[in-house]
Amino acid sequence: MQYILLALTPLFILGSVMPFLSSGISSLRRVYRLTDEEADIRDAPDLKPVAENKIEGSISFEQVSFGYPTEDGSQPVEILKNINLTIKPGEVVGFLGATGSGKSTLVNLIPRFYDVKSGKITIGGVDIREIPLKTLHQMVGVCLQESYLFSGTIQDNLVMGAQDTSYDTMVQAAQAADAHEFVSAIPEKYEGHVARKGADFSGGQRQRLSIARTLMLKPKILILDDSTSACDVATEARIQDAVRDLMKDVTQLIVAQRISSVITADKIVLMEKGEIIDIGTHEDLLESSKLYQEIYVSQLGGEVPEYEVVE
Ligand code: ATP
Ligand code: MG
Repeated sequence: MQYILLALTPLFILGSVMPFLSSGISSLRRVYRLTDEEADIRDAPDLKPVAENKIEGSISFEQVSFGYPTEDGSQPVEILKNINLTIKPGEVVGFLGATGSGKSTLVNLIPRFYDVKSGKITIGGVDIREIPLKTLHQMVGVCLQESYLFSGTIQDNLVMGAQDTSYDTMVQAAQAADAHEFVSAIPEKYEGHVARKGADFSGGQRQRLSIARTLMLKPKILILDDSTSACDVATEARIQDAVRDLMKDVTQLIVAQRISSVITADKIVLMEKGEIIDIGTHEDLLESSKLYQEIYVSQLGGEVPEYEVVE
């Protein structure tokens, strides 16, 4: 009896462990599937290194068209059509257009989140496919439309990806993004806890921390995709002024829904249904673009000042 019991006990234990073992194995398979996934966008095998400091921050889109790849490999729907655009180094360019007009798609092509279907994009005259991805991602800082914070401290969240992670740089970036004040009000300051997905911060605070994180990368090209949409207009203006001061000579692409976000840009690119329909300063567009006049009147109310509405 004793021998039988001795043999049975480990069998009982094994029986209780088995369900955990099998669910563990299937979870591990899923983890491996993810870690083994190869990126679709890769450096060409014969790519030569490019010195980042030799490339200036000008951007040009030449006859670019694009459609998101489909799951079944069928012909993708064309989202961007015939995009031609030249941006000078240090220029601040606003992108304005209705929701779904392709603004995010257009700016996300610059860091090569996707590759163009036809045409080409160059930075400093170099085709972005000829710049190693690591260099490209150091040059182009993107603050995505969906801001993402992970659990950890505020500092962990801000220094992610940055090369210069000094305290001063962090505070400078947070000040420019108008985040320093509310972080300072937290008892633990930059050591303060961030919950998963930043759930313990307001939408505007999350956006400002995301901007600070992007500023810490000290990019040559800064892309802010609807990054201040949850902030009030005064805060937004303050951030824009401070970012301009901190990021002198940095080419800035500001995507927005509100005219007030792009009113001071060097030029505004007006998009509709995947096409650029007008480019100009606020004054130019107010004078010449029917769509811009409509947006102006709908957002800021009243009449279009000084100009006749184009028929
Ligand atoms: P919003 O102002 O709402 O941010 P947007 O101008 O940034 O809009 P995009 O996000 O560029 O618009 O979307 C343009 C079009 O591309 C939309 O019709 C959308 O359905 C499609 N689209 C966007 N992202 C994807 C994706 N990952 N896969 C497939 N289609 C997409
Ligand atoms: Mg968008």
